[in-house]
Order: sequence, then structure tokens, then C-alpha cells
Amino acid sequence: MSNKLRTVICFFRNDLRIHDNECLSWAHQHFDFVLPLYCLDPEHFKGTYHFGFPKTGFHRSKFLLESLTDLRHSLQKHGSNLIVRHEKPSVAIQELINQCSQSIAPVSSVVFQKEVCSEEIQVESSIVKICQAAKIQVKTFWGSTLFHRDDLPYAKKDIPDTYTQFRKTVEARCKVRGLTAECPTWKPLPQVENGKLGDIPSLADLKVEPVEVGRSYPDPRSAFPFAGGETSGLDRIHRYYWVSDNVAKYKETRNGLLGSEYSTKFSAWLANGSVSPRYIYHKLKEYEAERVSNQSTYWVIFELIWRDYFRFVSWKYADLIFYPGGIMGKAYPWQTNKTLFQMWCQGRTGVPFVDANMRELLYTGWMSNRGRQNVASFLVKDLNLDWRLGAEWFESLLLDHDVCSNYGNWNYSAGIGNDPRENRKFNMIKQGLDYDPEGKFVQTWVPELQRVPQGKIHVPWTLSEKESGSIGLELGVDYPTPVITAPEWSRHFHKTSAKPKDPRNAAGRGRGSKPKSGQQKGIDFYFKSGHTKS
Ligand code: FAD
Repeated sequence: MSNKLRTVICFFRNDLRIHDNECLSWAHQHFDFVLPLYCLDPEHFKGTYHFGFPKTGFHRSKFLLESLTDLRHSLQKHGSNLIVRHEKPSVAIQELINQCSQSIAPVSSVVFQKEVCSEEIQVESSIVKICQAAKIQVKTFWGSTLFHRDDLPYAKKDIPDTYTQFRKTVEARCKVRGLTAECPTWKPLPQVENGKLGDIPSLADLKVEPVEVGRSYPDPRSAFPFAGGETSGLDRIHRYYWVSDNVAKYKETRNGLLGSEYSTKFSAWLANGSVSPRYIYHKLKEYEAERVSNQSTYWVIFELIWRDYFRFVSWKYADLIFYPGGIMGKAYPWQTNKTLFQMWCQGRTGVPFVDANMRELLYTGWMSNRGRQNVASFLVKDLNLDWRLGAEWFESLLLDHDVCSNYGNWNYSAGIGNDPRENRKFNMIKQGLDYDPEGKFVQTWVPELQRVPQGKIHVPWTLSEKESGSIGLELGVDYPTPVITAPEWSRHFHKTSAKPKDPRNAAGRGRGSKPKSGQQKGIDFYFKSGHTKS
């Protein structure tokens, strides 16, 4: 038996693609055999950190399985395959090392893309530990951002605290790197693994349940009707640029709420790495050179830099983004009123603009950026609830959940991030009127309000008895009375007929029941007790 041939384990994480993938290219360039591996880590299918919501909920789990199926097909086209394991990465990697140890090509290296947050770093440390014990090389690459970490014009501790300063310096002093060259020659799997690839599990295998039993998915109203995977991600980029030219009017449409075309929808593919931000950038540059370069095409890059910013801020401040006081360490008596929170989650607050957005999230895993900013502000600044409830609910449901973007944006919305200048409270009525003036978005997701006249769709509690009677809407029965009305809302309507409840009187305050670590059913959840990072 010869030890001259070498195998590398290419451990896929949030880089589920074959284009612009440095780990994959490096593996195929330097080794005789390549073992592409993905692990459905049981930790990702437990409860969220404090409140125990399903950590990878129905929508994102489905998207992930589609992404893995697509990745497997792509690798197969190149004579390779994807090994799938449903166990901790360190366990799976150890097993593969053991299996190959007696073969003609033992594992001599493990390669993966680096992440920045603590749970992901723990995974990295456990892999390093077993590799050190087995005298196996660990190689990592940075690949998740537009600007490479090593090209930043400052040290980690000096990363600017305001987005504008960050953007201006990277734009002036960094260059987006070119795409990684495609693997020149694709190396085979080592023989030992051929029979034991591992099936891509079903949602039922993962014990992931739909948010509502009996409801059909995908919801035909969804603004994100796309499948997971590199193939559909690349297709979306192509169509958004070259087929519809929608990228050329992005800046005017990006605050839309209905349909797939108002914004790029790249986020879900970016989050699990099915598309690379550099690919989006370089294809956009080609589009600008050939078709049009305008404020809209620039604005897509402007937004991608927000994504970079939150990733680098998470790198700089580590676990602070998860603390109740956030990066600023601001002490604030956050509340965890379960009744109020459930109203928010279910889209039953009685504030139509909030409810429409929250129902969209629940049933599709998608919510527009405009919607996210509003419902976050409402949770934190109107209901005074713990921002981490919202962040973990988003973590559970969002198709595009990205730990840095999600927790970074929640820090920002809660006014506890490192850039305090944008600490503003959104006015739900003004926002509804500005961005959904005809009430179409609300009517799409809150059909109970379909017959409410346009002028009152965002404030149904101001309907007179006669008006309510004529459309057959009984507030408090067919649709909730608002859980709160903020004083500033009254500037946008003239008459309030229903007396809103004071949220502070709603039942269910505080942390009660025991934590549950497994997947929860539907939107029922348990507060974990005494389990805070503070
Ligand atoms: P576009 O408007 O087309 O923007 C293009 C790309 O720029 C996006 O795909 C995204 O990668 C990036 N981007 C745009 N805005 C932001 C932003 N504010 N922060 C970071 N990146 C941005 N985005 C996520 O990708 N994952 C999350 O988990 C997430 N959680 C959020 C939570 C809250 C409370 C808020 C207010 C925003 C959150 N965002 C998150 C940011 C933003 O809402 C989404 O990136 C955007 O709505 C995705 O739609 P799109 O791809 O069509 O975006």
C-alpha cells in the first residue's frame, strides 16, 4: 500500500457552489482525490439560543435541501459527488479520516471556508482539534464577502463603526478580487466512499414541520417563488440583469413589497453561499459596460457593502452582537411578554402593515427590507419587547437568514449597534401609507381587510360603526383591535373609534416555561429560563 496519493476533505459550509469557490479549486488543484462533504449538523436543527424556536425552520430547511440536491448534481456532472452526513462535522470528518486511513490515499488535509461567529468558530476549533491529533493539515479560505478580509485598509480593531465611513474607505482603497478560476481538472472521490455517499434527507427525516399543518407550500402570494441552489441563483442573476433589466431601476423599486421583481432577491442564495458576492459584482460590471451604468446598478453594490459591513462588524465585536445591550452595551429593561410577542409573530397585532409583513414571513420565509425595518421597530420601540425575540424569530423563519446580517440589523433597529446615528422609530401608519398607499400589500396578506376602503386600510380602527357595518367587519372579532397606537400615528388619521389596548396590561409577562432544545411545532414556543448571554 502506497501513501503517496493524497485525499482532501472539502467541507462545504455557507459556500454551496462550484463557481468562485476557492476551497474547491484549491482541493482539486493540490490533491489526488477530493471528498466534498456537507453535514446537516444536528445543532442547526435544535432550538434557537434563548427562546427555543426551530433554529432552521421549515422554509430555510427546504431551501437548504434544494441547494444540496443542486450541488450534488453539479458535482456529479464533473465526475465527483457530495457526501452528506447528518451529524456533527467533527464526527463526520473523523469517520472519513478513519475510513480512508487504510486506503491508497489517506486524508492529508481538510479545507473549509471561514466564518466569524462563535458557534461556527466552535465547529472550526473542533475540526482543528481532530486534525491536529491525526497530523492532518487544515486549510481555510475567506470567501463570504465582496471585499476580502485581507484587503481591508485597517486592522480588525479599527474597522469603522459607521457604515458610511466603512463604505467610503473600502470603495476608495479596496478592489473586489477577481473570480476564482474554475477547477482545471476535477479529481475523483476516493474509492472507499463510493458506496456510502449518504442520502439528502427529507424534511420529515429532519423532523422539520410546516409552520401550519394543512397549508400548501409554496404560498402563491410569495415574493420569493424560487428554488434553492446555485443553478436557480445564477439564473436569477442572469434574469434580473439581462432578461428583465430590472437592475437598471433597482433604486426606484427596491422599497417595494409585492412580487419578485422589486429587489434582487439575491440574499437567500448569498446566505448559504449558492452564489458568491463577487460573482454578482463582476456580472454587474459586465452589465454596466454593455447596457447601462446608473444610480440603480451602483445601489446594488451599495447594499452588498452593507452585507460586508455587518460581517466585518460581527468579526470585530464577536459575541457582543448577541448580548441584550448589543455592541453598545446599552442597559435597557427589555420585556418578554409572551402574549404580545405571539400577536406579533402571528400577524395579529391589529396594525395592518405589521400584520401583513409578519404573515408574509410566517407563510413564505420572506419579508422585504422595508417590512423588516418596520416590524423590528414595532417590536422594539412600540411594544418594548426584547429585540432578541425578534432576532431569533427571524433566525427561525427567514429564507435568507445570515447570522451577521440578521443580528447586525437587529442591533441597528434596536438602537444598540455600533452605529447609533440611525436610531429611529418608524411610524407604522406613515410607512404603510407611503409604501402601500392603495393597501394592496395589506389586502394580500390580511384578507379580512379586503373590503376596507383604501383610505382606512392602515387604520381600520378608525372606521365608524356605519362603515364597519356596511362592509361586515367586526373589529375585535374578524380582525383584532390594535394592540397599541403610538401618539405620532394620529397625525395620519383623524378619528379613532376603537380604544386600543395597553400592551403593558396584556397577560403572559416574563420568562415562564422550561426550555426545549428540539424543533418546536408551528409557532408555539417556550421561553428558555435563566439562559442569557449577558
Ligand atoms: P436587495 O435590496 O436587492 O439588496 C441586494 C443585497 O444587498 C441583498 O441580497 C443583501 O445581500 C444585501 N443587503 C441589502 N440590505 C442589507 C442590509 N440592511 N443588511 C445586510 N445586507 C443587505 N439580510 C440577510 O441577508 N439576512 C438576514 O438574516 C437579514 N436579517 C435582517 C433583519 C432585519 C431586522 C433587517 C432590518 C434587515 C435584515 N436583512 C437581512 C437585510 C435586508 O433586509 C435583506 O438583505 C434584503 O431585504 C434581502 O432582499 P434582496 O436580496 O432583494 O435585497
